[in-house]
Formats: sequence, C-alpha cells, structure tokens
Amino acid sequence: MTSTRVLRVRIKDRHAAWLSSLAREVNLVWNYCNELQGRVFERERRFLSGFDFWPYLKGSTRGECALQLPVQAVQETAEQYARSRAQHRKIRLAWRASGGARRSLGWIPFKVRTIKYAHGQVYFAGRWLSVWDSWGLGGYELRAGSFSEDARGRWYLNVSVQVKLPQREPPEAVSAIGVDLGLKDLAALSDGRKIENTRFYRDLEPALGVAQRAGKKRRVKAIHAKIANRRRDYLHKLTTTLVRAHGVVCVGDVNASALARGPHAKSVLDAGWSAMRTMLRYKCDDAAAWFVEVPESGTTRICSACGADAGPQGLRGLAVREWTCAVCGAGHDRDVNAARNILVRGLAILAQQFSAAGEAKAGEAAVNEAGGHQVGAHSAGAGHGPLAEGISVTYGGDDVKPGCRCR
Ligand SMILES: [Zn+2]
Repeated sequence: MTSTRVLRVRIKDRHAAWLSSLAREVNLVWNYCNELQGRVFERERRFLSGFDFWPYLKGSTRGECALQLPVQAVQETAEQYARSRAQHRKIRLAWRASGGARRSLGWIPFKVRTIKYAHGQVYFAGRWLSVWDSWGLGGYELRAGSFSEDARGRWYLNVSVQVKLPQREPPEAVSAIGVDLGLKDLAALSDGRKIENTRFYRDLEPALGVAQRAGKKRRVKAIHAKIANRRRDYLHKLTTTLVRAHGVVCVGDVNASALARGPHAKSVLDAGWSAMRTMLRYKCDDAAAWFVEVPESGTTRICSACGADAGPQGLRGLAVREWTCAVCGAGHDRDVNAARNILVRGLAILAQQFSAAGEAKAGEAAVNEAGGHQVGAHSAGAGHGPLAEGISVTYGGDDVKPGCRCR
C-alpha cells in the first residue's frame, strides 16, 4: 500500500526575490486566463478547461519577452485556474494582484517532472535553490506541487511524494488511546493528560498587546507566526509520541468549520485541530497504527465508568469542567471523560469493521471453494488475524482492552 503525501520544506531567503518575480508571472498567466474566460463566456456561453487554455499560452515561454517560468508551470497555472473556477461555480475569479495592499501571496504551481533534486538543492526554472531539507527529499520521487510564500515573505516548496505504508498489526494486539479535541485544552487524552491551548502564547500575550496597540503590523504578524510555529512544533512531538506508544488512535470528529461560526469562533480557528488530526492520520499510516475518527456527539455527557447519560447538559454544561456521576459516583474531568468515551467508541468501530471484513472474507472463501479455486496464501495471509476478539468495548474503568498502556 502506498499513500500520497505533501512534503513542505523552507527555501532559503536569498531566493525570495527571484521566486517573487516568478510569482508575478504566474499572476500574469492567471489573470490572462481569467480575462480570456470572461470574454469566451460573453461571446459563446461556454467554459474553458485547463487544456483549452494551452493553445493561447503557446509561445509565452519563448522569444524576446518570454516568461522565465517553465512551460509546465504555465500550463499548471491555467489548469489550476480552470479547476478553481469550476469549483467556485463562477464565470470569473478574483484577479491575482502582484502589488498593493491586496497583493496575493506568492504562489507558483508546477507539474510532475518539473523539479529535480540533487546534493541538497532543488532545480527549478534553470536555477538551483537551496533548501532546509528537513525531510530528506533525496529519498523520495518528487512529483507535482508548488512554491508558496507565507505572510512573512518566506518561501516554501510543497511537493507531493509517494510513500510506502507498512502492514498493520491487528488492533487487539496493540494499545489504544482516545483524544478529545477541545477549546480550553487543545486536547485531552484518555490516559488523563491534557494539553492546554494557552501554553503556546501565554508568555507572548503582553508583547502581542503592545504591538497591536502600537499598530505595528509586521510585529503582530511575526508574533502570530511564532505562536503557530510553537503549536505546530509541539503537535509534531506530541503526535509522534502518541503514535509510537499506541497502535490505535481514536480522535473525535469535531467539526471546526461548523463551530467557527459560533460564539467560540476565535478560539476554534486558533485551536489547530485539523493540523493535529492530519498529523495523527499520516503518522498512524507510517507507523502502521490504526487511526479511527469517532462521532463525538454525547461523549461529554456519558459517564465513561458506567455508561449513564449523567453528565452536564446543554450550553450551560459547557462551563462545567468537573462533575460526579449521579449513578456510579465516579468523579470526572469533563474532557478526559470525553476522551475515554471516544476511545471506547473508536474500538467499537474498529471491531465492527473487522467483523464486517471477516464476513466478507468468509463469503469470498466460500465463493472461491464453490468455483473450484484454491484459497491461496494471498487471501489467507492478508494479515487480518482473528477478528475483533479481545477488543473489549464495555464501559469500564480499567478493562478497555488487554495489554492497554493508555492509563
Ligand atoms: Zn457513572
């Protein structure tokens, strides 16, 4: 099994000016496509595909006033334009501005086989670019991707690669953990640990306030970037340890975009949930661990010790951080309790998937036998093992599963 991954590496700042000049050319191509699409629609009421733009763009990379961009980047810009326009269901899109207050952040897309890597540098459009190669790009086959600029003017290479995934162990043989993503705490774990969200910026808050009141925009941006970097750095370390220690990781399916419209909007956008979930998903893949997304509804109200629906209810219940179950008397931290419920649900989902897969395989085997085919090593040794047995899905203090290291 393989999976596609996007690797992001920082490009050294001495190339920033040159990349920005290429980004202006991308904007030129984009705006040309936008203009052309507008005219074609006025005249013929039809939309152009990415491929339809190619003849119009022919020759743009040759001759006296040629673009510096390689032709694959010009074509990819047109294709991305067409895709984006179709996605937004518009006749035209916004212009990409190369200057002024509404300048678009630099962006240069490219197709597969446009860049190459050697000796720690990336070759693009006739130049070798130095990068901070945090991924060891030499170990991958580089495919399509883009160069992009962040709000501070730093450039990054985002390139997709194929990675090979190892075979997973059956989930009953490994330990499991539940993760509840929250607002006050970024995450609570079923083993009782919590990660406070404010830890990433508490010490920077005074500086941020000063910079905001003084109207220092660059400083404000830099502080926000610092907070985001700290959070990302911490999330990488946390998710790596989680995936190393546990073979099953269950995460709530909390929907940030829905919550972002509500009264908690600011903290939701800030929380880094999707970053954490994405990291857990791909790190689980790499480490051959199971990643399970679990419907969260009700996980804060149900007692993880006895299963009674006895927790704090409704909006007012949101403020309750700690409660005692009226049925069994167990004391709970709100978020840790939710994480335990997520773990139990996640294991139940895995168990269900496994028994479904087991039935399908049994059916397949029966068909094969009836058809006179040999049931070969391929289907017998597919690595799913005894299904669902040993996964305890009862609500209970300590019997989540045998061999569990999660408490
Ligand atoms: Zn209880």
